Amino acid sequence: MQHLIRPCFCREGYSYAKRAEDVAREHGFDRIARLASNENPRPPSPLAIEAAGAALLEGNRYPDERTADLCTALCRYHGDYHFVTGAGMDGVIETVIRTVVEPGGRIVVATPTFSFYGIAGAAHGAAVGNVPRREDFSVNPETFIDACSGARLAFLCSPNNPTGNATPTEAVREILEGIDCLLFLDNAYVDFSAIDYRPLMREYDNLILGRTMSKIFSLAGLRVGYAFVPGWFAPYYQRAATPFALNAVSAAAAAGALRDREHVTATCDHVRRWRERFLTETPFAACPSDANFVMLDVAPHTGDEVVDLLATRGVLVRSCTSFPDLGNHYIRVSIGDDWENIRFLEAITAL
Ligand SMILES: *Cc1c(COP(=O)(O)O)cnc(C)c1O
Repeated sequence: MQHLIRPCFCREGYSYAKRAEDVAREHGFDRIARLASNENPRPPSPLAIEAAGAALLEGNRYPDERTADLCTALCRYHGDYHFVTGAGMDGVIETVIRTVVEPGGRIVVATPTFSFYGIAGAAHGAAVGNVPRREDFSVNPETFIDACSGARLAFLCSPNNPTGNATPTEAVREILEGIDCLLFLDNAYVDFSAIDYRPLMREYDNLILGRTMSKIFSLAGLRVGYAFVPGWFAPYYQRAATPFALNAVSAAAAAGALRDREHVTATCDHVRRWRERFLTETPFAACPSDANFVMLDVAPHTGDEVVDLLATRGVLVRSCTSFPDLGNHYIRVSIGDDWENIRFLEAITAL
């Protein structure tokens, strides 16, 4: 019956990190340094856990379809903007695509980058145009603008996954003024940088800033994402969205987490301190990073080889070979807990 499957799902899908339990069993470790998925090693805020517990008691009811409490918490945290929410930023990305892209419509993606934009676009019948970045992984606004001609939606990740570099606000501004479509600026890692794109929301009506609660807020397992959207866009997003996609427990946890500023500053301090060491203390060239991970060029080895070697030393990192338009000689290493980072630095130095 496989002939019934759509061609876009006959290719490989999203590439997941190896499971820590499998690596631990295979190499005889009781714990593995989990540095492959850019999670926050700090557990969720007690405020998030308390709010989630209270929401669970009302689990017999459908959640509020507009996630009003979470949007109120977002306004308290960020200021007065229009927000939409979803099941992870991945869910938000899917709904944005559904809202604006007709089958056969074009989307544009600055590569190498997070693969889900292309996967989700293809799943909705879009034609996906990849626009390679420059050698140093910066975006060339002119090339990007040219590629956006006739497109409905463009994706730019900043700070970029997996390269780590951010796109300066001026380049984003140039792109916004040069394109006729919507720009989805993925800000999953923006809290770890010094850049603030939020003021651009006041100036442009074709900008969406994608955010996630998975990284700095330690809620990856709860699947909460949101976006800053132009006011005109929000009602259409609501129509396109899967009803009740964001569950009540996760929404409540997210609203609770947003009240814990200490969690944010402690995480940022930790990331900045270790990022400096990751950039300078390995025997390989590191790409400058504005995120909670660092990409290393491990040539003449391949990324896959180094991932396997580090696994034998109890360290799980991500090979970048599955990222479109990137060579096979890169690994991406998340900043983890102190013991994980130390184990990684020792292991990579001993290779
Ligand atoms: C982690 C990540 C996301 C997805 O976040 P979720 O909210 O967990 O779905 C989106 N974009 C990039 C670039 C990411 O690295």
